Amino acid sequence: MRRPVDGGGARSAADGGAAPPRGIVVRSAREIEQLREAGRIVAAVLDALGGAVEPGIETRDLDALAERLIRAAGAVPTFKGYHGFPGSICVSVNEAVVHGVPGARRLRPGDIVSCDVGATLGGYIGDGAGTFTVPPVSAESGRLLDVTRRALAAGIRAAMPGARVGDISHAVQTVVESEGFSVVRRYCGHGVGTSMHEEPQVPNYGEAGQGPLLRTGMVLAIEPMVNAGGDDVRVLRDRWTVVTRDGRPSAHFEHTVAIREAGPEILTAP
Ligand code: MG
Repeated sequence: MRRPVDGGGARSAADGGAAPPRGIVVRSAREIEQLREAGRIVAAVLDALGGAVEPGIETRDLDALAERLIRAAGAVPTFKGYHGFPGSICVSVNEAVVHGVPGARRLRPGDIVSCDVGATLGGYIGDGAGTFTVPPVSAESGRLLDVTRRALAAGIRAAMPGARVGDISHAVQTVVESEGFSVVRRYCGHGVGTSMHEEPQVPNYGEAGQGPLLRTGMVLAIEPMVNAGGDDVRVLRDRWTVVTRDGRPSAHFEHTVAIREAGPEILTAP
């Protein structure tokens, strides 16, 4: 899950100074181990969801499966009850970008299904997402998933100590726009740790070399949300589900990533 960009939109240049940005938490090796354990649960749940996506299944069946696995692992579903969110996970189908509420919708051939999973274990949170397909999907949807996955990989590669948040943002945006797709600007990635949304914001667009400095021990949820058409989105009357305004499909991949001395470590990797 991600947060809306704060009222002011992108961060100002004032955040780009040399001092550690205020409010950004640096985690100890012990804390990163705890985040790794939470992340492993998220990865296992996403893997199971990928296997469960098939024609005829209802999105609430995916939610029930995820909740059962998260609780069986001794964790709790982070999203359940978050600002009143009714599900354990978000399930966003086709033109739904993020925050889809699980329900009675049945998956059909050609659907693409984004699942966003949060697990809290001993107070530490893992946050990850993936988009799955119900074959056969259109060539465009297939390419959308491929580009979004590659954008996430590029963003993660840029998450080096000494780089800046804008390097991640720029890497994501460059991959997406070079393929003719658009990044969603209204929602962004975020720091994650003992709260689901910590500083800094990690937008999916921006200038290289700008924004908060990345320091060893910072943990970020990097999460490109990519639209096949325009970047504009709106929220449905359920007050949660975010959809593309032009009705074209959207994909979402997310990993929780720790900035280590040697480089980025994916905490939600299988
Ligand atoms: Mg997130």
